[in-house]
Amino acid sequence: MNEETNINLANLLFNKEEIKSVEYYEEKYPYRKEKVVTRFAPSPTGFVHIGSLYTAFINQKYSSDAKGIFFLRIEDTDQNRLIKGSIEGIIKDLKNFNITINEGALNEMEETGIYGPYKQSERLNIYKSFAYHLVKNGLAYPCFCSEKELEKLRETQSQNKERIGYYGKYAKCRNLSLTEIEEKINNGEKYVIRLKSSGNFNNKIKYKDLVKGEVEFPENDIDTILLKSDKYPTYHFAHVIDDHLMRVTHIIRGDEWLSSFPIHYQLFNYFHFFLPAFGHISPLLKKEEDRVRKISKRKDPEAKVSYYYEKGIPYEAVKEYLMTVANTNYEGWKSANPTQTIDNFKFSLNKMSSSGAIFDMDKLLNISKNYLAHLPATKLYDNLVKYEEVFDVPFGSLIKEKKDYTINILNIEREGKKPRKDYAMYSEIKDKINYMYDELFNYDNLELKTSYKKEILKDYIENYYNNKDNEEIWYEKIKKLSLKYGYAKEVKEYKQNPENYKGHVGDVCELIRVSLTSSTKTPDLYQIMNVLGETRVKERMNKFITYLDEKL
Ligand code: GLU
Repeated sequence: MNEETNINLANLLFNKEEIKSVEYYEEKYPYRKEKVVTRFAPSPTGFVHIGSLYTAFINQKYSSDAKGIFFLRIEDTDQNRLIKGSIEGIIKDLKNFNITINEGALNEMEETGIYGPYKQSERLNIYKSFAYHLVKNGLAYPCFCSEKELEKLRETQSQNKERIGYYGKYAKCRNLSLTEIEEKINNGEKYVIRLKSSGNFNNKIKYKDLVKGEVEFPENDIDTILLKSDKYPTYHFAHVIDDHLMRVTHIIRGDEWLSSFPIHYQLFNYFHFFLPAFGHISPLLKKEEDRVRKISKRKDPEAKVSYYYEKGIPYEAVKEYLMTVANTNYEGWKSANPTQTIDNFKFSLNKMSSSGAIFDMDKLLNISKNYLAHLPATKLYDNLVKYEEVFDVPFGSLIKEKKDYTINILNIEREGKKPRKDYAMYSEIKDKINYMYDELFNYDNLELKTSYKKEILKDYIENYYNNKDNEEIWYEKIKKLSLKYGYAKEVKEYKQNPENYKGHVGDVCELIRVSLTSSTKTPDLYQIMNVLGETRVKERMNKFITYLDEKL
């Protein structure tokens, strides 16, 4: 077709009212001054996957390290896969993980930034304008092939052991004349707009991926679809236009897109767009027996980002873990700089693994335990309240009502050099501290032993216990008490001559411990007694004495 026919074809295919010139858009979205502009571009097709969060985090981190821009673009062009509420879900997940955007969707309706709209479904005229431009320049054309015809083509190609696809001699709609096209359109035949690729599969293109390093591909010769029959764009077309007009400098995305890079490369060239840098991130993998596979939405609950929120695994720990996956030098840096946060770590794309990284939940939970152990009790309390206000409202109210008391509980064995590492998630805290609250305390699950003697407890309350004693005196008294009732005051002494004793000081401590907590394993008993306070200590011991009377 000649130039004039191309223009006529473009005018036939598009409604002139919807079309603006390329120059119009180039001017409307000026180049930015920031050196790094990245984006997170999810499709709202259900819950956010941990792999997507990983990508979002890397993009955000990369731009914030360079004081650049990070924005959220919603890729909602596949009308059949949209799931209601997903956009809100994406925004909520990003918020919960403190991954802040500079521009983009704020909720279903609103957005911020001058490079929008940031929802692809609201950019249809932009895609049409750029497709118009391609048709006008003889670089795109309508294709009327039905699904059935394409299926047949695939069969023929696979029988002939040829490459599958709509290219070269197989791209039959390339050769339709303007009259034929007009006729088909008048007959109401559906069509898509395809790229007219002039690529040669035997030529190679090379580029340097920010993550994978040097990569080589055959040139694209497929007449890929740009606009579908519903006039929504495909991913390939939309992302090229958007990343260009939104002035993205670094496209960091999952490596499932690596194989279609030649198409994107060709499109950038056909439009004479400046080619951004690309980094293709490997997926998070999971070890299953001796097999390694991608984390799966179906099989792995931890694939869902909401899982971490619901369990109360702090976002700081998840991000810290993801950073250990992203950059292996992060762990060394963190142990050399324990008081610093991820914000101070310089992340490098080229230090990312170019294959895949195994997602190790145990390691994540360990990081989380460590993180929670080093939080000041007041901060842990605030976070716990926020969590329980959503997931356990009665407990949330109880700890709000008893704020100072709860902070004291959370502070048990926290401020020393080696704080306790009791919990990996907020959801585990209640079960570990509930005995401290009279409202939740009982002996129901305690296995009674005949060695639990009420006389010892009675004697302890009446003649030994004084809540003003320091730890040393407190322990001396328990030792004396032990000896009085035939228990060795040191474990060692008992072990040397077990026949001389009923047991040792540890057994007496256990008696005191179970009377106060209904558990044989708790943090430091002295600290627990201090936090409970004199009245509650005495009340509980008396309660236990009565309980023993009833049960034994
Ligand atoms: N919508 C695409 C996806 O969710 C975006 C890929 C990209 O970052 O360009 O996979």
